[in-house]
Amino acid sequence: MEMVNSSTYYFRADSTSGRPGRPIGKEEEEEETRANEAIYCRACGGAVTARDQKIALHGSHTHTFFNPAGIVFELGCFSAAPGCRSAGEPSSEFTWFAGYVWRFALCRQCSSHLGWFFEMGDYSFYGLILANLKE
Ligand SMILES: [Zn+2]
Repeated sequence: MEMVNSSTYYFRADSTSGRPGRPIGKEEEEEETRANEAIYCRACGGAVTARDQKIALHGSHTHTFFNPAGIVFELGCFSAAPGCRSAGEPSSEFTWFAGYVWRFALCRQCSSHLGWFFEMGDYSFYGLILANLKE
């Protein structure tokens, strides 16, 4: 069995700059792996978004809302969710974030309702129902 010690360096492609790669320490690599960990659809297990896509809106990542039917949703805000597709016409009815219009965000794989896609001008984000996701 081969032992890997903490001074071992790994090389990887740097996707943001397009440079061929740079050495990174093992510790840094582990941290990055955690940050990139996918968040999955609870219904089908498909990857929806990732931990490093979490954002804070009005100072908080999570927001709790009631819909007009009185059902409580706890939403997490994500800057991107490649595993979602938007459905329906943009609507400003009952919007939870003032100034934003919303569309439904469905799982690309199984079409479960995962949350909403919010848009205001050039800015957009996903508000995803945390109970419908698993990390
Ligand atoms: Zn799904």
